[in-house]
Amino acid sequence: MGVPIRIALIAFAAALLLPLLAQPGAADEASDYKRAVEQQFQAWLQARWPEAEAEGISRETFEREVKGLTLDWSLPHLVLPDPAYLGGPRLPASMKPKAPERQPEFDSPSRYFKTSSLNALAAQGKTQYHQYKTVLSEIEKRYQVSGAIIVAIWGRETNFGTVSIPNDALRSIATQAFLGRRPEVFRKEFVSALKVLQDGHIARDQMRSSWAGAMGHPQFLPSDFLEYAVDMDQDGKRDIWDSVPDALASAGNSLHSQGWIADQEWGYEIELPANFDCTLQGPDKARSFGDWTDLGITRVKGRSLPEEKLDNQGFLVLPAGMKGPAFLVTENFSVLKKYNNSDVYALFVGKVADMIEYGAPADFVGAWQPVDRFTRDRMLEFQKVLVNRHGYDVGNVDGLVGFKTRQAIGLYEKKVGAPLTCYPSQKIVNEALAQQ
Ligand code: CA
Repeated sequence: MGVPIRIALIAFAAALLLPLLAQPGAADEASDYKRAVEQQFQAWLQARWPEAEAEGISRETFEREVKGLTLDWSLPHLVLPDPAYLGGPRLPASMKPKAPERQPEFDSPSRYFKTSSLNALAAQGKTQYHQYKTVLSEIEKRYQVSGAIIVAIWGRETNFGTVSIPNDALRSIATQAFLGRRPEVFRKEFVSALKVLQDGHIARDQMRSSWAGAMGHPQFLPSDFLEYAVDMDQDGKRDIWDSVPDALASAGNSLHSQGWIADQEWGYEIELPANFDCTLQGPDKARSFGDWTDLGITRVKGRSLPEEKLDNQGFLVLPAGMKGPAFLVTENFSVLKKYNNSDVYALFVGKVADMIEYGAPADFVGAWQPVDRFTRDRMLEFQKVLVNRHGYDVGNVDGLVGFKTRQAIGLYEKKVGAPLTCYPSQKIVNEALAQQ
């Protein structure tokens, strides 16, 4: 009795499934495409051997780690080849990036400094700062970097080691090297990752990273690990994944090794005199604190720059031009940017550190005024006009408003007689592009 019913059920299920299996649809196209790209990837992996060998990787390590390695298609921001290779399958429509990904807007700097996020991070940071007081003072002694800065970086990078870091580091890095936006960077990181594994710092299944290959509490790439990681708790391992003392000291060592200057702040929020020339911002316009004071710059809230440091060099950072708070920063600000190459990142870390160490408030004194928004493509067009038509140096023509672009906008505003802001507005961008 039971058998015919079972057969009937199987037949029924098969009748449901067969049309789906037979249909040559988007799923088939995607899997054909992926299979073709994976084949190219396997050949690419094998071709990494000379580089690996040159860096002291043994054939045994290489074969063990490369065996079975596949692309991680779930990673964001992959640049998918179309076709998969010359004469190979085309990139299926279902896998093409959606329009918003092709045209991201750059964020106005103020979005980076939400009062609530700053307060939450600083409150946790204070707790961690006290909990690790002993190890942090040892790190300060050894590397002359402020413990609050290190804790602020730890908070910014991984929320004090609590964010999930789900990816297989080697697989993510190999995928970034093969399909990512910065292949040459990750090709080197791939070999460094093999070195980390070969030296036995961590087991392969424990070597987790972000989608962009950043590992452990301080979010080090493998080359950072090899260069800066230290064994602070003296258990014989440099462990940035599970040892907080190792992670904090490694971050301290990285800042120290990249030029952190002892006994200097990262910078100060300042007030600019009326009609200030905002093209004087940026590291190439550095002057002594004394010279800046002579130009009428003062610290906010009537505080003065430290008398004994008036000979120190500093430069101005105006993340939103004249439409937001202004800062006089030291070389240490540039060192923070080596950790993550962004003005707002360095400012964020500096701000959180000041909140932890000095109880500074979350808000800056200067207000972030509303600014117009642009797609990166639109900004890129504007940058090209500034360079090609007006001969200004905008730094990287990348659709982002870094200090050189802000300087160039200021020079352009002066040239056309517009109010000096050193920050893009729809009006000035539209006018510049219309004149082409
Ligand atoms: Ca250790």
